[in-house]
Amino acid sequence: MATDSFLLPVSDIVKETSEAHSIVFELPDDVRHAFQPKPGQFLTVAVPSDRDGLAARCYSLSSAPGDPLTVTVKRTVDGYASNWICDNLQPGDTLRVLPPSGIFTPANIDADFLLFAGGSGVTPIISIARTALREGTGRIVVFYANRDERSVIFAEEWARLAAEHPDRLQVVHWLESVQGLPTGEQLKAFAADRLTYDAFVCGPAPFMKATIAALKELEFPRARRHQEKFASLGGNPFGDVAPVEDAEAEVVEPAEAADGVTKQPVTLEIELDGTTTTYDDWDPGTPMLEFLEAKGVQAPYSCREGECSACAFRLLEGEVKMVRNDVLEQEDLDDGIRLGCQSLPTTDTVRGTYS
Ligand SMILES: Cc1cc2nc3c(=O)[nH]c(=O)nc-3n(C[C@H](O)[C@H](O)[C@H](O)COP(=O)(O)OP(=O)(O)OC[C@H]3O[C@@H](n4cnc5c(N)ncnc54)[C@H](O)[C@@H]3O)c2cc1C
Repeated sequence: MATDSFLLPVSDIVKETSEAHSIVFELPDDVRHAFQPKPGQFLTVAVPSDRDGLAARCYSLSSAPGDPLTVTVKRTVDGYASNWICDNLQPGDTLRVLPPSGIFTPANIDADFLLFAGGSGVTPIISIARTALREGTGRIVVFYANRDERSVIFAEEWARLAAEHPDRLQVVHWLESVQGLPTGEQLKAFAADRLTYDAFVCGPAPFMKATIAALKELEFPRARRHQEKFASLGGNPFGDVAPVEDAEAEVVEPAEAADGVTKQPVTLEIELDGTTTTYDDWDPGTPMLEFLEAKGVQAPYSCREGECSACAFRLLEGEVKMVRNDVLEQEDLDDGIRLGCQSLPTTDTVRGTYS
């Protein structure tokens, strides 16, 4: 099933560094309702491709809700879409875009925030910081790691925000060229006095691994520790052209995944936006997202491929089997998090919540 996408005009391109461009979108009045982002969420864009028709890629919003809708794209070495965007996109062009989604977003904007960013991982982090400074009341500390000074994205903006909010915002820039890679001990030292904060971590895989390990060693509570992984989608959520192949993704065939799945229609009790609804005719061969859509429920999703976590929900009772999962960690699974687009029921009753 195709996702509702929107053609958005590009109103501006800002060269943040030699490698990172911010794309500012214009929001025509008739699509504004679909673009009400939460801080830290991402857009999925369709990059034209001679080879495949399009390549779908997720880009986090660097803007705060209420600001002009902006994503910031950093070139990936030999990457197709990021270089296409940085080389070709001009103000006045249009891009096909899916509405904002994602769960890398604060539950309480008044919390104190412990923000870790590496490289382009700063994008959702500055969105959260901007929003918290504007709407929240807590303290915000940012640990921002980069290769060297020229790689720092939003350097002036961070300095401006810190000068405007000296009592609330502290930004620590960590430059690999000067200080080397941050060690576990250094990351722990930064976080140690902030165990009551809400932590958000986004950056290259080794940076995230080191930071998460440091937080775990400090026994930082899992419920307040969030991470966003940047990866390219293999599938095509736009629906009208052939998907880009992703040879490395492990796909479990539905027939195999359905092994052990109950054969009876299943009872599903699901909470979304404060409303709990019960259905007693969930066909166990149909993924939860598709079942809810058939019922007219506007459940969240983006990639529909098990790659992005926009459709994540929390199991309260029962169990599901995911056909594919490229994004949730064992810890997420232990916490009951599942992907709606990939979930087939394995028990006669499933209760869950999107909250
Ligand atoms: C939730 C989320 C948020 C993200 N936020 C950001 C962000 O804020 N900023 C950011 O910079 N990145 C972000 N990313 C990463 C981003 O989505 C891409 O993974 C990144 O830009 C690299 O994509 P790429 O196409 O340049 O590189 P790759 O995916 O590495 O490109 C190579 C791929 O392109 C294919 N390819 C080559 N030529 C073609 C062609 N002609 N047509 C079609 N395909 C081709 C190749 O087969 C290969 O699979 C985010 C990712 C996620 C999941």
